[in-house]
Amino acid sequence: MAYLGTPAATAGVIKKHDFRFQKKYGQNFLIDANILQKIVDAAQITKEDYIVEIGPGIGTMTQYLAESAGGVAAVEIDKNLIPILRETLSEYDNVSIINEDILKMDIKKLAEEKNSGRPVKVVANLPYYITTPIIMGLFESHAPVSDITIMVQEEVAERMQTGPGTKDYGALSLAVQYYAKPETVLKVSASCFMPRPNVGSAVIRLTRFEEPPVKADDEEKLFAVIRAAFNQRRKTLANALANAPAIKCAGGVAVKVTRQQVCDALERMGLAQTIRGEALSLAQFAEFCNLL
Ligand code: SAM
Repeated sequence: MAYLGTPAATAGVIKKHDFRFQKKYGQNFLIDANILQKIVDAAQITKEDYIVEIGPGIGTMTQYLAESAGGVAAVEIDKNLIPILRETLSEYDNVSIINEDILKMDIKKLAEEKNSGRPVKVVANLPYYITTPIIMGLFESHAPVSDITIMVQEEVAERMQTGPGTKDYGALSLAVQYYAKPETVLKVSASCFMPRPNVGSAVIRLTRFEEPPVKADDEEKLFAVIRAAFNQRRKTLANALANAPAIKCAGGVAVKVTRQQVCDALERMGLAQTIRGEALSLAQFAEFCNLL
């Protein structure tokens, strides 16, 4: 099978199968062999690895993954792409094509079935409309994933790596930095995709920490507090939390936080009572939640 990562090869597959791009699924296929090789190199894949590819499209990157890895699960939501994938990937006996929504997939079960429960690697040119839920889902579900190499919108790559004091800092930055070390691998121009997206893209690698860099007594509470703080990011932390619904803690317990509790915790940390959540670092959010 010839490689699909060129404009002519991709156009050929699309025409042969009379495939119609679906905007709602964020379908922008990679047509640049150089970029594809760089993504696969950045993922540092060996034959020992099992890969979960989110959204294989017509199988362009899957070809590279199948050649480097022990096995690949190619999880594609669009049923119209399944017969195409069966054809384009017919030469690879280590690829499982799965017609499923990645947000509904049980990655733990997949890792048990396909990789004896060992952590898998995630590699993807992500559909941009659900980047955040995919990443948060992978982390918060504690799926056995060792690292994630993904193409995202350039702006989202920046959001993942930024700290307090920038407008891009938010719940995604904190979640990513709690669970993983993020590094931008390369920037990718719109001309490398068919059709062209109207945003710049970047490949980012997230290497999961064995242990989070800060100690949170209750992770669920930490992220519930972070979400509440950024839901009303222009408000002080005290107002944002006092106005928010009850905060979900470990074991499904929900606790209503009062302004007084917030002010007491901030005082013990030596922080102003008027501080906004967007000014707190990850370590400060963790300390604040442990005190709350
Ligand atoms: N990997 C291909 C490539 O690089 O050419 C396609 C990437 S395209 C940006 C995103 C792919 O994700 C599309 O094939 C789309 O149908 C698929 N997709 C969108 N939402 C999905 C979901 N919830 N679960 C699984 N796949 C999804």
